[in-house]
Amino acid sequence: MAVLKVAKLGNPVLRQIAKQVDLKELADLQGELQNFIDDMIDTMREEDGVGLAAPQVNRSLQVVVLEYENNERYPGESSIPVTVLVNPVLSDYSEEKALGWESCLSLVDFRGLVPRSTSVTLKAYDRKGDKIEKHATGFEAVVLQHEIDHLNGKVFLDRMEDLTQLAYQEEFEEFWLKKDPVL
Ligand code: ZN
Repeated sequence: MAVLKVAKLGNPVLRQIAKQVDLKELADLQGELQNFIDDMIDTMREEDGVGLAAPQVNRSLQVVVLEYENNERYPGESSIPVTVLVNPVLSDYSEEKALGWESCLSLVDFRGLVPRSTSVTLKAYDRKGDKIEKHATGFEAVVLQHEIDHLNGKVFLDRMEDLTQLAYQEEFEEFWLKKDPVL
């Protein structure tokens, strides 16, 4: 197990278009790429992230890992089993969008309200090189859009329409998290 260093905003690697993976490199199960994928999963878990894209650990490569179960920062969302996506592409973005509070391991302590399509179609390969195609909705659709943005040099700030809805975690909890109106 190895926990990798997370690249923070300002690191140019986060703004590059990530390179496609040569699927042949997945074939060697003891190979460097498979080890790297294991390290990405370890890093995501160690940092308590819901997803991690390879550029976030200083490697400009089209690999994303996801996993979600009872994360403190996203209470009440449905779970996502550990998933590895290689060369993922999204299409069929729904016109319908919903606003949700996002955070990012590369933006450390920030939370921002981001509009995202409520459904998308994902095409990718898994870590064995097998094709994945699925329709994603809800929280999974949001996580996919966030992580795959990282492969295209984008962070959630770029998707925000109103920067007054950007907050530090502590202020988010104090001023924005009150869901029930006070009557
Ligand atoms: Zn992120």
